[in-house]
Amino acid sequence: MDRLISPGAVKEALDYSIDVLKRLISIPTVAPQGDHYEEAAELLAKELEGLDFEVEVIKVPMEYQKEKCKNASNNPRYIVLGRKGEGARLHFNGHYDVVPGGQGWTVTEPFKPVVKDGRLYGRGAIDMKGGIAAALGSFKALKLDSKEPGLTLEAAFVPDEEIGGECGTGYLLEQIESPDYLLLPEPSGLEHPWHGHKGAVWVRVRVRGVNAHASTPWLGRNAFLLAAGLALDVQQALASKLPGRKTKHPIKPEDAAYPTAAIGGVAGVPGGGKTNQVPGEFIFTIDRRTIPEETVEEVLDELKGIVRWAAVARGLRLGEYEVELEHSMPAVVNDPGELYDALRNAGMAAGIEVGEPHLCPGGLDMRYYVVKGVKSISYGPSGEVAHAPDEYIDLGELEKLIEVYAGTALLLGRRGG
Ligand SMILES: [Zn+2]
Repeated sequence: MDRLISPGAVKEALDYSIDVLKRLISIPTVAPQGDHYEEAAELLAKELEGLDFEVEVIKVPMEYQKEKCKNASNNPRYIVLGRKGEGARLHFNGHYDVVPGGQGWTVTEPFKPVVKDGRLYGRGAIDMKGGIAAALGSFKALKLDSKEPGLTLEAAFVPDEEIGGECGTGYLLEQIESPDYLLLPEPSGLEHPWHGHKGAVWVRVRVRGVNAHASTPWLGRNAFLLAAGLALDVQQALASKLPGRKTKHPIKPEDAAYPTAAIGGVAGVPGGGKTNQVPGEFIFTIDRRTIPEETVEEVLDELKGIVRWAAVARGLRLGEYEVELEHSMPAVVNDPGELYDALRNAGMAAGIEVGEPHLCPGGLDMRYYVVKGVKSISYGPSGEVAHAPDEYIDLGELEKLIEVYAGTALLLGRRGG
């Protein structure tokens, strides 16, 4: 298959992407604080304008933010939305927020990007400022080749994905008509795109006993010990149920094919305990990861049932235990149809074999689109260093992604969207 984009345009677009990516990584857009969101939004809006997009910067209303985005800080949230062309809408979504820089970097500091040995290092290099840079690079390559894909190119650059996305993609999709196609440059690796992802149900189990001074423990009822017993019983019940449920969709690694639970990520006496007290109240969390064959409601009901069963078995009475939902996101999967065909063929033209779609073991903003019926696929750089020290994007991969995204737009446009 002939190349869809000229090698010269891809090379020039790569230089452009590297430049944008360096500038973007230098802005520490760490969630949930979002101290530098406005600066990043300005940069991205300017780049899209430079590529002849019509650009709108949407500020999430503060009332909405306060009500719906519990994990967000008080800093305003900005969404950059750009459009170019006519016809069916191929929508690229990229989150510009990142996780904190963290410790253990050896090549550079997290927000001081450097290029070394064909890699660009910095926080967000693959998750997912690199994906944003690749999308912008693909727009640049199309422009350099004077190619109009025959569809609407749309780009949405959003904050807050790392904390649930309610004030990013969630808000955006309440404001605009759903696009026809989503291409999400999250780090899937070049071999397999993602056509869905696992979900999560986070609950807080609260156990109430009776508070007492540690010198007179016989007057109290120790909520920690009650909670500890409960946690072990719940763990055992889940360990006997979950390995019997395997998603039928392909996923890597193999262990991710099953629902999982992590107990006690947060655990303690509310407000902080004291050594010389019998704790009167204790909470612990459960992070239950779901497969597309399970709904959030079913999983929440099941968790409540298991806690109730364990509580009764340990002699707890009604009112002495409670299960509170902290956060949920559904697992989703979809058939991306012609979008996948276009991506696979564009890959072939760029010398890459794009395999069958897999599920992503983590969560993605993709769910906001899939529940609205948007044909969705995620495809981006290799992802083992996301959220880790020395995060980098391989510049060879960045170049391939530019070519594949641009080619996908062309092929999808040719078939009339
Ligand atoms: Zn991400």
